[in-house]
Amino acid sequence: MSKSPASSPVPALTFNDALTFASRGHSLAAVDARLLLRHVTGATLAQIVSHPGRQLGPVDRMRFESLVARRAAGEPIAYLLGEREFYSRPFSVTPAVLIPRPETEGLVEAALARLPVEGHPEVVDLGTGSGCVGITLALERPHARVLAIDASADAIAVARRNAAALECGNIDCVIGDWLQGIDGHRLSMIVGNPPYIAASDAHLGEGDLRFEPRSALTPGEDALGAVQEIIRQAPATLTDGGWLILEHGHDQAPIVRKLLAREGFVDVFSDRDLAGHERITGGRRPG
Ligand code: GLN
Repeated sequence: MSKSPASSPVPALTFNDALTFASRGHSLAAVDARLLLRHVTGATLAQIVSHPGRQLGPVDRMRFESLVARRAAGEPIAYLLGEREFYSRPFSVTPAVLIPRPETEGLVEAALARLPVEGHPEVVDLGTGSGCVGITLALERPHARVLAIDASADAIAVARRNAAALECGNIDCVIGDWLQGIDGHRLSMIVGNPPYIAASDAHLGEGDLRFEPRSALTPGEDALGAVQEIIRQAPATLTDGGWLILEHGHDQAPIVRKLLAREGFVDVFSDRDLAGHERITGGRRPG
């Protein structure tokens, strides 16, 4: 009798078979198929390409097939891998947090360009989610002190895990309701990527958004509800000349500039994302 792998309930599969199974059998993009195979086997991309005949054992095969089926059903690749890169660093992500977006690196750039270089500026990151914005600012500006706030305890747990994994010592991650409880005109800067999609927007039923936390995407029927609340709360917490900088929807810059001006903010600006949309808007408390 042969001692072939057929004696185990799940026969082995080669790297090549696995990639074919994912792309032909389940219509996965080749890049996703390779990412999942790397994730399951620990192999590098070079190893996958140069060793197409290497075999996955039965356990890896089952894990791979299950991840392929979940990806085929639409689950975001970042949640399946448990990780997404932001500003060249790896951030753990779970379905409790928004998946960091490349546009949001523009928020970081706008903040870095304006953060005071002297002293120990206090910075707040509102709706921190994975912590990607606040942790990046803290790591890029070790002289700053960052407070990362989110209403979700599960999100704060992820942000704390990321801060620890990235050895970020100058950040605190706390549960909170925007800027409630913070006052005293101490903050040099407030940044945030708040929810800004109207609850009735059909995009919420498409792509990755279907799997992301609702509260991270939409503040309710009024798309600008959270932005407005933050702009109202901010002046009481900012120091003279302190900045409020927010990410928003691709068509919301004119109204966000108007809201900032109405609240007394000066030096109001907007920055464009790589697609050319005004995506980031900020202003300074006078003084
Ligand atoms: N600050 C996080 C990000 O930009 C989460 C934002 C959110 O949950 N709306 O990715």
